[in-house]
Amino acid sequence: MDSGISITAEKLIDYTAKRASMIASKENLERIVGISSKQMAERAVDRVAFWLAETQNSLLYCKLCNRGPFTKKGLYLHLTRVHRQEIKTMLEEEIKRELKAVM
Ligand SMILES: [Zn+2]
Repeated sequence: MDSGISITAEKLIDYTAKRASMIASKENLERIVGISSKQMAERAVDRVAFWLAETQNSLLYCKLCNRGPFTKKGLYLHLTRVHRQEIKTMLEEEIKRELKAVM
């Protein structure tokens, strides 16, 4: 089960970074995780995305290291290159929490 969580988290990194960067994702969450996990993944992504970025005067900053300002695309690239592992760990924690709530 842990490897399943890790795989799901890995798949959600890019989607979460896009959400945090306010880039509309062309990918459908349902296609990434499957319909049965869609709502669970949605909640996990929302919570993690909230911790990744903040907006000041309509400029985007990275909440993890306070760098910025970034463009949407710049923040997305920053998050996926610099903080990939952190985002994955955060997603894993949130997915575990979601699974516990269900059981
Ligand atoms: Zn950063």
